Amino acid sequence: MTKEITTKLLVIGGGPGGYVAAIRAGQLGVPTVLAEGASLGGSCLNIGCIPSKALIHAAHAFEAARQQAGGSPLGIRVQSPTLDIAQTVRWKDGIVARLTGGVGALLRKAGVQVHKGWAHIEDGKTVTVQPAGGGDTLRVRCEHLLLATGSEPVELPTVPFGGPIWSSTDALSPDVLPRRLVVVGAGYIGLELGIAYRKLGVEVTVVEAAQRVLPSYDEELTQPVLDALKKSGVVLHLGCSVLGWDEGQGVHVRNARADEFALPAERVLVAVGRRPRTAGFGLESLQLDMAGRHVAVDAHCRTSMRGVWAIGDVTGEPMLAHRAMAQGEVVAEQIAGQNRRFEPVAIPAVCFTDPEVVVVGKTPGEARAGGIDCIDAAFPFAANGRAMTLESTTGFVRVVARRDNHLVLGWQAVGQGVAELAAAFTQSLEMGARLEDIAGTIHAHPTLGEAVQEAALRGLGHAIHI
Ligand code: FAD
Ligand code: NAD
Repeated sequence: MTKEITTKLLVIGGGPGGYVAAIRAGQLGVPTVLAEGASLGGSCLNIGCIPSKALIHAAHAFEAARQQAGGSPLGIRVQSPTLDIAQTVRWKDGIVARLTGGVGALLRKAGVQVHKGWAHIEDGKTVTVQPAGGGDTLRVRCEHLLLATGSEPVELPTVPFGGPIWSSTDALSPDVLPRRLVVVGAGYIGLELGIAYRKLGVEVTVVEAAQRVLPSYDEELTQPVLDALKKSGVVLHLGCSVLGWDEGQGVHVRNARADEFALPAERVLVAVGRRPRTAGFGLESLQLDMAGRHVAVDAHCRTSMRGVWAIGDVTGEPMLAHRAMAQGEVVAEQIAGQNRRFEPVAIPAVCFTDPEVVVVGKTPGEARAGGIDCIDAAFPFAANGRAMTLESTTGFVRVVARRDNHLVLGWQAVGQGVAELAAAFTQSLEMGARLEDIAGTIHAHPTLGEAVQEAALRGLGHAIHI
């Protein structure tokens, strides 16, 4: 049996892009249906941002306890801690359940009809949804179709996922901790989770194709991360490719000199990127313009077909939850009749390594490559009182500004807790702040944020505390 319904907006995908679009559309009185094949909250809430940050936090707490047990300069004395990884995973799952349940409640409150099932596109205005637990197929006719189908991990043919070869999803729910873990890819996921596993006591080896870790960030910014990796005992093999895996020898690797060697490991985490989810649900039949692997969209998040919109990871880089959410709001408001565009001055990026890395706007290299005469100035956490009280003086805050009018073009920071500075950085860019605005703002003492003010002061040539 097939049941038919009509609606103004049909959203495919209940991740940060899709659920935010649906809630906002509902708030604005747009009749909205959302189809989700797996779980509300998408990759971010179920198998991405939230569970990874939970695991990272647990790993950090465990490492801190171990360090105290090893003799603490703070005078804290504890017995050697142990880890119940099954309880850690249950705690993480509890956070995920609370958040995904909350998304369901918000959608209900906004009057959105949620259908659990995989959507299949018949044409730009007709989609069938196969209920996840069986039952009647639903045919939805819509005026507007929003694609928010997200992304999936890239698989390496030499080490396909399954069994001991983990994707990030597997690494977020381990039954037991392996003694040795090889991580392929030193990008966001590889380093965030690789560092967490190391803190949990696992021997971690990272294999990366590029010559640097976090190769998409500039080298000065990633140096403190590299130092911390080495200090923690993570073994790095840079400029290497993975040839295969076998249970006896582990991961077979070839380096830049064409030497081949094996890295023993019980588990291998492959984190070599994610690709937009565009296949298997009839999208090809729409013959939309693509930009490489992702759906091409304009500044309104419109695809090449009238009435078909796309947001989030399916529209390519940067594949970040906050970008998907912002796009979702923009689309919902346009469908409700408002004049909106998705044109942020900057989209912050945070890597939750230890130390954390934040990038917002232009780096000095990018500004100069764009022909801009710029100032860049950094303030080290080694000269920040709050950082000393947190026992974390590595890293710095760096600002980039035009030389002629001091307009701030970018911020970069590396250090413990710098993720929380991303809001101030992004606001300053969106509001068109100049170095004088930041330098003239009273920053609370003692906070890491004082390094932001001091970087701006240094850019003006008169930092106080350095
Ligand atoms: P998704 O969250 O992928 O949601 C898409 C949804 O669509 C899924 O639920 C899927 O089941 C559903 N779907 C797909 N096809 C269909 C269909 N045919 N029918 C019905 N439903 C369908 N980003 C950050 O900003 N910060 C972080 O700290 C961060 N950490 C991450 C950590 C990990 C381990 C991973 C994997 C990702 C992380 N990300 C992070 C990226 C972030 O998860 C994504 O950018 C974000 O989830 C994209 O949102 P989206 O709505 O576009 O897609
Ligand atoms: P990534 O692009 O961040 O890193 C992939 C790494 O793998 C790169 O360093 C690349 O050089 C390397 N690589 C590629 N092919 C390889 C090969 N064959 N052998 C060895 N190394 C290889 O991708 P990711 O870590 O998988 O994360 C995917 C996406 O998820 C990110 O780009 C980001 O958009 C999102 N994410 C964001 C966060 C965050 O915001 N904190 C956290 C996790 C994931």
